[in-house]
Amino acid sequence: MSSPTLQTPARRRVVIIGSGFGGLFAAQRLRKADVDVTLIARTTHHLFQPMLYQVATGIVSEGEIAPATRVILRKQRNTAVLLGDVFAVDLEQKTVTSRLLERITVTPYDDLIIAAGADQSYFGNDHFAEYAPGMKTIDHALELRGRILGAFEQAELSDDPEERARLLTFVVVGAGPTGVELAGQISEMSDKTLKGTFRNIDPTEARVILLDAAPAVLPPFGEKLGTKAARRLESMGVEIQLNAMVVDVDYDGLVVKEKDGTTRRIESQCKVWSAGVQASPLGKQLAEQSGVELDRAGRVKVLPDLSIPGHPNVFVVGDMMAVDDVPGVAQGAIQGGRYAADAIKAEIKGQTPDQRKPFSYYDKGSMATVSRFSAVMQVPIPGTKKKFETEGYFAWLGWLALHLVYLVGFRNRLNTLINWFFAFSTRGRSQLAVTEQQVYARTALGQLSELEKKSLPEVEAGALGADQAPAAPSETTSEADRDEEPSTRAG
Ligand SMILES: Cc1cc2nc3c(=O)[nH]c(=O)nc-3n(C[C@H](O)[C@H](O)[C@H](O)COP(=O)(O)OP(=O)(O)OC[C@H]3O[C@@H](n4cnc5c(N)ncnc54)[C@H](O)[C@@H]3O)c2cc1C
Repeated sequence: MSSPTLQTPARRRVVIIGSGFGGLFAAQRLRKADVDVTLIARTTHHLFQPMLYQVATGIVSEGEIAPATRVILRKQRNTAVLLGDVFAVDLEQKTVTSRLLERITVTPYDDLIIAAGADQSYFGNDHFAEYAPGMKTIDHALELRGRILGAFEQAELSDDPEERARLLTFVVVGAGPTGVELAGQISEMSDKTLKGTFRNIDPTEARVILLDAAPAVLPPFGEKLGTKAARRLESMGVEIQLNAMVVDVDYDGLVVKEKDGTTRRIESQCKVWSAGVQASPLGKQLAEQSGVELDRAGRVKVLPDLSIPGHPNVFVVGDMMAVDDVPGVAQGAIQGGRYAADAIKAEIKGQTPDQRKPFSYYDKGSMATVSRFSAVMQVPIPGTKKKFETEGYFAWLGWLALHLVYLVGFRNRLNTLINWFFAFSTRGRSQLAVTEQQVYARTALGQLSELEKKSLPEVEAGALGADQAPAAPSETTSEADRDEEPSTRAG
């Protein structure tokens, strides 16, 4: 393979991995900076994860919460957006390598911001995912919508009472904010939206079970708000089962271990997992190459300036970073992304890394919706260690307002507002379409991923040698031209 021509980059090259809250807000912060930014992400959109449950339960469409990243950044002339799954970060060569189908792209950097987020954690039981998908991506939300509505459709066709009961039992694992929101919405959808739409079954008889191994609902919100949320859910008919650890999941149900060690089975076709997170595996590569420590969830124990030891220009932000008192929430990622961008801008003006002020997180509070017209809210009182807590209608209005503010794009906000008005005032939901592709996508994607692995055995993490790492802005090879000189793409 011939070596690519070395080029001296005209400007500092900033590479950002991820188009979530950390990645996008870092890129936007660099809008006027004298740098070339390349944002690489495995999806074409910026996903507003806090509203995924509304996609899963038919309130809003996926487009409203996931605008195209390159459209958001269209006017930002110093920024290029690349689609690709980053599978290797080489700290010595200062490159990141990504894959799009069989095409491999190597992108050199001077500064790197890694904001690849986290995935669902099954605590070592990854096979549970097949029967209890998580809630992290648009695919997850659409698949879950298909599973929920599909269960009702199958129940309508069944004459067997046991089978019907299994089909009409929905289990949400994990009583954190996502689990609470999902359980509340599945319950409202069956009680209100679907009521009267079937002839052989009564959707209002559906059981919604919210399970957690912990002894409380919404633990981060404290006992008072957690108890209020639990009572509200119970008043809607949601069954809350605490101190109940899921030890097995299969197609027809799951097995739960109680605190006293006894086990029991719940028959349920539709299960959803919202019980834990595991940071991006890119953290492991950083640990292997730099010696930085990871916590139990695989998050990178970054230095006070969010960089990693020995690499002051490699920042890890958002759900991938482990920083005391910074929760895995959107604000943590936004503030981390902006901090890293500011550090890069300051360096261009002459500041050295040792002059950086440590990252400090400003807690703006947290919220979770429980149902239509009901939410819990916790906001720190400035100058004290106390928090203002409230729940109910006003907290719900606050949730709506805040989420509208952070949704990207005026049209998305307007569409969402219209959908909310429709959903909350009439109990109707306009996004109940389900396609065959959504329902069977997991199987098809699994097969595709196996095929990809077979066709690209040599490009696993770290397998690209130094001689293959080009110095031009961003270089792409495909399976066909791997042995040829890679074509150069403007970064
Ligand atoms: C269902 C749900 C509900 C939530 N609700 C709330 C809420 O109400 N309030 C709140 O504050 N927070 C909430 N959160 C948490 C919040 O969304 C996250 O803390 C935040 O998204 C983290 O931002 P991030 O940039 O670190 O990661 P993400 O937003 O997850 O973005 C990660 C990005 O990296 C990309 N990526 C990942 N791996 C690779 C790779 N190998 N190569 C290329 N690209 C890659 C992904 O495609 C994505 O673009 C919720 C999360 C979920 C899942």
